[in-house]
Amino acid sequence: MKPAERDRYSRQILFAHIGEQGQDRILASSAVVVGCGALGTVVAGLLVRAGVGRLRIIDRDFVESSNLQRQTLFDESDARDALPKAIAAERHLRAANSGPKIEAVVADLTPENARELLSGVDLILDGTDNFETRLLINDASLALNIPWIYGAAVGSYGITLTIRPGHTPCLACLLESGERAGTIGADATCDTAGILNAAAGVIASIEAAEALKILAAKPEALHGRLVSCDVWSGKFQSIGIARNPECRACARREFTYLEGEAQPQITMCGRNSVQIHEHGRNFNLAELSGRLASSAAEIRHNDFLLRFTLPPYELTVFPDGRAIVKGTQDPAIARSLYARYLGA
Ligand SMILES: [Zn+2]
Repeated sequence: MKPAERDRYSRQILFAHIGEQGQDRILASSAVVVGCGALGTVVAGLLVRAGVGRLRIIDRDFVESSNLQRQTLFDESDARDALPKAIAAERHLRAANSGPKIEAVVADLTPENARELLSGVDLILDGTDNFETRLLINDASLALNIPWIYGAAVGSYGITLTIRPGHTPCLACLLESGERAGTIGADATCDTAGILNAAAGVIASIEAAEALKILAAKPEALHGRLVSCDVWSGKFQSIGIARNPECRACARREFTYLEGEAQPQITMCGRNSVQIHEHGRNFNLAELSGRLASSAAEIRHNDFLLRFTLPPYELTVFPDGRAIVKGTQDPAIARSLYARYLGA
């Protein structure tokens, strides 16, 4: 370690569980943050300041003014310029610490690029907003034998779990066991339920602490528990999660998300519309209509479908999860609207 680094990271080195040896490991470590929103910006900022050697940031979106309340790496000029989040994050992180190598990737993580974008790092961090991408990360983590940290926050509530292949349960153990214990309601998204920046900050900070244990090579310090908190009610919980011996992903090693089999089918649907078919959804249209009331316009529904507008788009949703997005021919836009307003 150079003298300048010893000084720069002195307060972290003084922390006995890290010390100079742990800091050396952190400086030589690498991580990837998938999704640079409320969680991703905070966790990326903390890790770069802590001295992670190399950080890749993957995000498909642009900075908008409604991001600034909680996405702490961005400022008004980023929103005015509609900069891609990964690019804006890279600039601000470089200004905070010129030491680490920062790599911005403007892309949607998909089964086609997941192996390439997630390999060659010590750790994967979840800053995404949907379970489809998280299950893809989970598959890739198991296939590539790289640990990852799941995190999610909506409203005043958040949840996180560290997943290490071969050592802990995986996200599929949690989500696909039928109980769906400890997940954020599939129907709630930040665009319908809102989010407190403090809730995202707490969860991202716990993710960053877990990351430091892995990157400093202190796996014995990982608690292995699903941690959740509600910053409004003050209720914090930590629960032990059992591995599912029949788990599709970590036991049977059937990587259906990584192989693309479980992806929603996206098809062009007439002129200027895209159809998304997600499997196994069961929307209560009346309930959905109520939830969308504050964020969408012209919401109408009957027993068979619900239609609402988000100018210039119009979405039509069916109870089984199928949706038609009118106003675009771009599957990425349709998918992003689906994830934002209908959940994932
Ligand atoms: Zn599993």
